[in-house]
Amino acid sequence: MTTSLFDLYKIGIGPSSSHTMGPMRAACRFARDLAEHGLLDRVERVRAELFGSLALTGLGHATDRAVLLGLAGHEPASIDPALIEPAVVQIRWSRCIYLAGKRPIAFEEGRDLIFQRELMFPPGARMQHPNGLRLAAFDEGGAILDERTFFSTGGGFIVEDAAAGPNENQPAPVSPEAVIPFPFRSAAELLAVAHAHELSMSQLMLENECALVPRNAARAPVEAVREGIDRIWNVMQACVARGMAAEGILPGGLNVRRRAHRLAERLREKEAGGLRGDPLAPLDWVTVYAMAVNEENAAGGRVVTAPTNGSAGVVPAVAHYYDRFIPDSDHEGIVRFFLTSAAIGILYKENASISGAEVGCQGEVGVACSMAAAGLTSALGGSNGQIEHAAEIAMEHNLGMTCDPIGGLVQIPCIERNAMGAAKAVQASRIALNEAEAHKVSLDQVIHTMYLTGLDMQSRYKETSQAGLALNVIAC
Ligand code: SF4
Repeated sequence: MTTSLFDLYKIGIGPSSSHTMGPMRAACRFARDLAEHGLLDRVERVRAELFGSLALTGLGHATDRAVLLGLAGHEPASIDPALIEPAVVQIRWSRCIYLAGKRPIAFEEGRDLIFQRELMFPPGARMQHPNGLRLAAFDEGGAILDERTFFSTGGGFIVEDAAAGPNENQPAPVSPEAVIPFPFRSAAELLAVAHAHELSMSQLMLENECALVPRNAARAPVEAVREGIDRIWNVMQACVARGMAAEGILPGGLNVRRRAHRLAERLREKEAGGLRGDPLAPLDWVTVYAMAVNEENAAGGRVVTAPTNGSAGVVPAVAHYYDRFIPDSDHEGIVRFFLTSAAIGILYKENASISGAEVGCQGEVGVACSMAAAGLTSALGGSNGQIEHAAEIAMEHNLGMTCDPIGGLVQIPCIERNAMGAAKAVQASRIALNEAEAHKVSLDQVIHTMYLTGLDMQSRYKETSQAGLALNVIAC
């Protein structure tokens, strides 16, 4: 395994990791590489073509805006969400992009940004993934200076087509001297290695993450990893707070009203009115936290992929549940939560998929649910076996879940679905913690089943908005 916790949990912007963050990263890399290779001054025109799911749901997922911003040299992790709208308006109004933030070129969206809705894959590409993006730069005479094909494989990860250049399939920036002390390729291996070295899953992950910290880092590896986790947790908490404070209608034209604010107010009123004794109130708060994050995501705000943007609410909601409602919860529990949930997310990323366009929503909210169930079980002091069991239960009951967002927007069913995923994660953890460790279905079996189920799923149920709710509910 080479995926890091910090590859899964990436700070970025909404509304989609595969349709917004991935394309923005690809376009930014393309533009910056033109500059780095000394080609920028010769570029007169750039063309971006979107294929498959990117073409079919790209408008609802803001892929067009992401490509414009990426070509202008912006990265999802660093761009200020408040500056996105003015930057896009400026590009559209002036019909000009400062390529890589440096060279102004004319850019006509109908001509230079093309949605290839009839083509599932970029012609001639070796790889076949439904989130293809091809970028080309031309000189004054129309000759191609550079042409590259990327695939956005979920969670903000991008892979360059093998035919066109080096493959970024293994995303972690592993330094050559880094030796991961406890590698694992499956849940069975993870459990066996942890058992052999008498480590908890979170201890094992901490050792592995420490090995990925560059040797010349200013901080000691343990401190660097813990600080990174704190940064992610802080961004998640800020996202929940913003989502609970904001009101109004979400962008995109579906007229979906934000609900987290009102729900939170209602819960506070109930608590103030003496209804503190409602035993299920914590689950209502889990709903509020998850919806707050996904409403922020739908509004294009700052979120953390967990493991994707569409499923970004599940993990923070369950972490907030632990933080607020579990007596004696502490920061060490939060650290265990993130380390352990990342170990489970890595298993899905490396053995299956976390892309809704590839395997449906079971790969997004399903994986998030599994990660959160494992994280909570670890935070609550569960054994490695109980963690594996919780992760397995959580995915088992998301198998077959399709992706059919109405209007191609990450709003319906996505926002509520995160609340349901978070509640299911809490339940999965409770089942695992209350049982003996032996169980019939293993996490490896359920991960494999999820992947095969995803491959069998008709493509119209995989982030194309051509079936399911997207077909049967009128988007207006
Ligand atoms: S339905 Fe699930 S996979 Fe599809 S966009 Fe919504 S959250 Fe993502």
